[in-house]
Amino acid sequence: MKWFKRVPARLFFYAWLILMVTGCRGRDAAADETGRIQVVATTTLVGDVVRVIGGEHISLTVLLPVGGDPHGFNPTPQDVTKVASADVIFINGLGLEQFMTTILENAARELNIVDLSAHLEGIPSDHAHDGDEDDHEHEKIDPHVWWNPLNVAKWAEEIAEALAEIDPENGTAYAANAAAYKQQLTELDQWIQEQVAQIPAANRTLITDHDSLGYFVEQYGFELVGTVFPGLSSQSEPSAQELAELTAIIRSYGVPAIFVGTTVNQRLTTQVAHETGTKVVPIYTDSLSEAGGAAATYLDFMRHNVNEIAAALR
Ligand SMILES: [Zn+2]
Repeated sequence: MKWFKRVPARLFFYAWLILMVTGCRGRDAAADETGRIQVVATTTLVGDVVRVIGGEHISLTVLLPVGGDPHGFNPTPQDVTKVASADVIFINGLGLEQFMTTILENAARELNIVDLSAHLEGIPSDHAHDGDEDDHEHEKIDPHVWWNPLNVAKWAEEIAEALAEIDPENGTAYAANAAAYKQQLTELDQWIQEQVAQIPAANRTLITDHDSLGYFVEQYGFELVGTVFPGLSSQSEPSAQELAELTAIIRSYGVPAIFVGTTVNQRLTTQVAHETGTKVVPIYTDSLSEAGGAAATYLDFMRHNVNEIAAALR
């Protein structure tokens, strides 16, 4: 969704943004009229975990819409207002939310940002390619940490601690919610291991639209053999040569499926699949589904994705 693609509209937006962020009064009240603290989460995945831990004690705004691409998101003026007035803002981190940079640069006060990946062991992209020399070093760490449920268990701890810090009255509830959720994540991890065990070792190869499954690959013993969009973001189009190389890899590995998410343009993936006789298998990579869909929560997101991957590779 590129609402501000045309230049005059974009300039207007940034002028408005600076006005909104700098014009916001400093706050000390940590509650709305219902008494709940004001919490912002960036992505739908972060938002779901914050919702589980915060429960009825928080008023939560999730910035990314369902199906929105966090790598290429443009916040609305309303989003900027929410961020500027929040008691705490939970972000995925590791450079996923490039859009936060502009908001932070223009903030009039120090925002209470909790970077959920700050204490995780980030893994570098194992699919770096020749065009990456211009990239900054930090952009090489894979931000898609939620593809390992044990990382999300650490998110749960961090969220409970951060919420308790600004709302000590409900600290016990946050800690209890985090403990129960961590148990579910441990069970999810074990369930995934059982599903993966049923895929023959030689078939544990993945091709994805962009390099988003690195933590899954590492945790469960897969090999990522190629991506349609080069690198960790969905924002750079592959060259004709890169596409030709990918086609050759798919043919030589005999890869049966290309896994594509809902947040990335599927035109190129469909083209590559057509040329190589591979099937396109839709999964959810960077966003949950709509409520009532197959991946409306993080737990359902992982179960659905693993079922799709196992069915395609078995
Ligand atoms: Zn991504």
